Amino acid sequence: MKQKVKSVIEILENAFGVPCRQPVNEPLDILISTILSQNTTDANSDRAYQSLRRSFPTWEDALAGDPAEIAAAIRVGGLAEQKATRIKAILGWIKENYGQMSLKSICDMDTEEAISVFCRLKGIGLKTISVVLCFACGRDVFPVDTHILRISVRLGIVPEGSSALKAHSIINQLVPPGKAYSFHLNLLRLGRTICRARNPRCQVCPVQQYCISSYRTGFTPRFEGG
Ligand code: SF4
Repeated sequence: MKQKVKSVIEILENAFGVPCRQPVNEPLDILISTILSQNTTDANSDRAYQSLRRSFPTWEDALAGDPAEIAAAIRVGGLAEQKATRIKAILGWIKENYGQMSLKSICDMDTEEAISVFCRLKGIGLKTISVVLCFACGRDVFPVDTHILRISVRLGIVPEGSSALKAHSIINQLVPPGKAYSFHLNLLRLGRTICRARNPRCQVCPVQQYCISSYRTGFTPRFEGG
């Protein structure tokens, strides 16, 4: 299976390129934007984050804000009341524990320790903290969201019916060192453009030879030239 994952990574890098890491100044920005991305589309999550930043230019402002105002600012992202309450509580916890509205010190923590500490907070699960560690701290951690889970099952990398938690544990042991970021972003791109939840475009999929899904076996290949 390690060889299969390695081959899929190589094919995706040939098809989509090797993503360059973008510098991140403040891990707290990534944390809040990832919380806002839960149970919504990328477009609405981005809108909610931009709206939140317009209404509350600093995280201190958001901490001092009324939960109803925070909810109003992030309404477009869905689950606004729940997310607003959680964001405010998380900001309060960060201020209390780190004395400032910054999460830079998370990058000094051991990966397992960071997961264990932050996953105790409501609104932060394994995917969310893995995104922070991978994107903000440059850690070789592979975050598993619903799109990644769907494609991993179709490719037979994780068994059908696996939880995101189980998939996280399986895939993180299979990804070669240094490839978590590239594999994560390229799988997301595959999921958005080709391996969509409904009507995947198997006929143009670059990794179709590795797929065990009935979508692939169900489509009739088109032979050119009669
Ligand atoms: S062959 Fe189809 S179902 Fe399989 S990974 Fe590609 S797009 Fe997804």
